[in-house]
Amino acid sequence: MNVAAKKTLIGLTREGLKRELAGIGVEARQSGMRASQLWNALYVQGATSFDRMTTLAKPFRNELSKQFALDRPEVVAAQTSSDGTRKWLIRFGPGIEIETVFIPEEGRGTLCVSSQVGCTLNCRFCHTGTQKLVRNLTSAEIVSQILVARDHLKEWPGAGRNSSTRQITNVVMMGMGEPLYNFDNVRDALGIVSDGEGLSVSKRRITLSTAGVVPMIPRAGEEIGSMLAISLHAARDEIRDVLVPLNKKYPIKELLQACRDYPGLSNARRITFEYVMLKGINDSAADAKQLVRLMGGIPAKINLIPFNPWPGAPYECSDWEQIEIFGEIVNRAGYASPIRTPRGRDIMAACGQLKSESVKQRASAKLAELRSRELAGMPS
Ligand code: SAH
Repeated sequence: MNVAAKKTLIGLTREGLKRELAGIGVEARQSGMRASQLWNALYVQGATSFDRMTTLAKPFRNELSKQFALDRPEVVAAQTSSDGTRKWLIRFGPGIEIETVFIPEEGRGTLCVSSQVGCTLNCRFCHTGTQKLVRNLTSAEIVSQILVARDHLKEWPGAGRNSSTRQITNVVMMGMGEPLYNFDNVRDALGIVSDGEGLSVSKRRITLSTAGVVPMIPRAGEEIGSMLAISLHAARDEIRDVLVPLNKKYPIKELLQACRDYPGLSNARRITFEYVMLKGINDSAADAKQLVRLMGGIPAKINLIPFNPWPGAPYECSDWEQIEIFGEIVNRAGYASPIRTPRGRDIMAACGQLKSESVKQRASAKLAELRSRELAGMPS
């Protein structure tokens, strides 16, 4: 049998896994147990081949390896930032490349996962939107990003790390792509990531970020049940229409109504609003006041994100004092308004900098210049 034609068992729901097992002749009364054994091997042990699954009989292991693959995707490049942020460029096939970023912090570590190759939204300030090729990632490809990160962080049992504390404590769907345009695969993948007998990242520690695909927000609440983040970035439609063109389809009012209706919303389960700080565009005191008016009643936290530059970007980051003034107004109105520290900028791993095409290499020469100019006005 052609190796490439083998189906992967990664990324299947438990039901899907049972169906595959039934397909190779495992009896119905056995399939639940076999699926659980495989689940443990894949998502607790981090198995990459069937031979070491010693809880399974040898002939069964042989049969599995004839029919199925467990291979990891190819990691084309692995980079580490001076601040410890790590980025992996992962290739799923010719030209099918995405980036995954790990952000270590005091007491926690966040993995930023991609949902699509490229993105169709074309937000004006985002580098990913300038990438041409777009396709949805499969559930297997989404889950694989976490498996690859755990491989590289040596986070599987017996992998040689001395500490038992977890490194990946949180997962955010904030990499490349719009997760709500790839709903089924993202739902299935996050079901696997949050499964308590597998990777076990609780839904409270998983955040799905959307630019505002309003009709899918209620389903995200019901079928995924993770925390929700909204890439808002502007408090008025005229500005948001330009920054996030999706706003022309689903304007701010409709978006915020979907947030008010988000299942499970409470003060303990607030929605995060992301607001990129663009100099002279959306960062005035009047914008901050308008933003606060909009929030009225929504349990919310507002993350202020200093704009991360990329070669050819049409915007500049707001001055630091202006970000603080903006944050003060939001904070005084009763909303937490942390300023997100840019992470991994030196390896182009910060918010909005992900892009996997080779164009990037040509552009990276320009980056050094751009960075030095931009960083001059920013605290490090
Ligand atoms: N499509 C989804 C998931 C991507 S999340 C969404 O839009 O929410 C990536 C986050 O980084 C979004 O909030 C995005 O608006 C933000 N972002 C994009 N480009 C940026 C940049 N250059 N600087 C800072 N943040 C940026």
